[in-house]
Amino acid sequence: MAPESNLSRTSMFEGVLGYFDHAARYTRHEQGLLDQIKYCNAVFRTRFPVRLDNGRIMVMEAYRAQHSQHRLPVKGGLRFSPLVDQDTVMALAALMTFKCALMGIPFGGGKGGVKVDPRAHSLGELERITRRYATELLRKGFLGPSLDVPAPDYGTGEREMAWIADTYQSLRHDDLNALACTTGKPLVLGGIPGRREATGLGVFHGIVEALSVEDHMAALGLEPGVKDKSFIVQGLGNVGVPAAQALSEAGGRIVALAEFEGAVHHPDGLDVRKVLDHRRATGSILGMRGVHDITDTAKALELPCDVLIPAALQGQITEANAPSIQARIIAEAANGPVTPQAERILLKRGIMIIPDIYLNAGGVTVSYFEWLKNLNHVSFERMTRRYQQTAHRRLYDAMEDLAGREDIELRRKTAMDGPTERELVLSALQDTMAIAFREIHERMVADSLPDLRTSAFALAIDKIALTYENLGIFP
Ligand code: NAD
Repeated sequence: MAPESNLSRTSMFEGVLGYFDHAARYTRHEQGLLDQIKYCNAVFRTRFPVRLDNGRIMVMEAYRAQHSQHRLPVKGGLRFSPLVDQDTVMALAALMTFKCALMGIPFGGGKGGVKVDPRAHSLGELERITRRYATELLRKGFLGPSLDVPAPDYGTGEREMAWIADTYQSLRHDDLNALACTTGKPLVLGGIPGRREATGLGVFHGIVEALSVEDHMAALGLEPGVKDKSFIVQGLGNVGVPAAQALSEAGGRIVALAEFEGAVHHPDGLDVRKVLDHRRATGSILGMRGVHDITDTAKALELPCDVLIPAALQGQITEANAPSIQARIIAEAANGPVTPQAERILLKRGIMIIPDIYLNAGGVTVSYFEWLKNLNHVSFERMTRRYQQTAHRRLYDAMEDLAGREDIELRRKTAMDGPTERELVLSALQDTMAIAFREIHERMVADSLPDLRTSAFALAIDKIALTYENLGIFP
């Protein structure tokens, strides 16, 4: 995990509101309702002391924003980074509101953060920080299976989710659903197979969907499909790694990978696994034989490629570098990697942007499945596997009666097993990404909307408005 790079000076939250306002013009809701959907409902800011290993006390600054509570619980990641502030957390919470609505996930939007560089602390210190943060959230109604459910984000992972779930459980030991207070947990603590790579795989499926639209590809001068396309991925973390690997397995060429310490480039394509192994062994992405090193990592974004995938942090493509981007498509795996000012330049240059609120929704989609599993207290596989095996056996028996036994026998062996929980989760993820893209695309075409982001926001606004209208929620 690396410290965040210099962010764009403008407020990220204002940027998200700008996208909202632009898209709202293509909807027909009254201004009061739009205002209710737009603004951030609640922000919790706290400072708490933590005893460091050297005996000193350090005061931590932390936040949790609940952008919209039109559906409960609110859902959104927890970020550990020195550049966490209230504006960023509010912006990321707002993106979660629109992301969940767009994907048909019944959650409001939230986000949390602690202003801390995780690399500067020992394991024990990080555990104390996380547990104290969880306690503060719980005291104020910003944590709980039916209220507010964090997940991993930049600088956090399964370990932090486990600490939070354990802290919650120890303070609310009579809550039967305690484990559903976070998602992205380790498997042994109620996690779900596939969650770790869900965001990256969702990015992959989203790109596959976008690249399959013939008209769009023709307008960009590209053939449909992933095969033989060139990709650049920035950020080799939870999101970037599985996305790069899946694209490579599908026949894409990963021509550059960028990390904090530098980038590596090869126009014929890199072996993602080898780059990761090299980084693990040497501590750096640089220095591999037969590969070009780029020491100024930001320059990797400007190399020629078909699809550029920023999967690190917000504010990476700004007015400064937007004119130099050579990609035909920018796939926003990170949240807010393109500033609104840069977006204007890129769209004018005919570059397509696949927006974050759609593209990185794989994580919250699978988090939803994990939350449901925790509330059900049973895995999806356990409820379906034997039944499916039996159903398949009956089907194959019937086919054997009708056709030649040997022909069927061979295929029966591979197709008979019921699906594992991982297979169920990943197929539901793929389906969710495909359905959402179709909706965004159809809305864009039907209403002649200018770009995919405006269409995604307009759809999300409509879905939230529908919830409010049906709830008759205003007292
Ligand atoms: P992570 O901490 O696992 O990985 C991020 C990687 O980016 C790190 O390896 C870091 O060193 C690298 N990085 C940082 N600054 C960089 C720079 N300037 N150039 C190149 N590399 C740089 O974080 P993550 O969980 O993968 O999250 C990445 C982005 O995806 C964030 O914007 C996050 O909000 C978003 N996101 C994450 C999830 C999830 O499930 N983790 C879900 C949705 C969205």
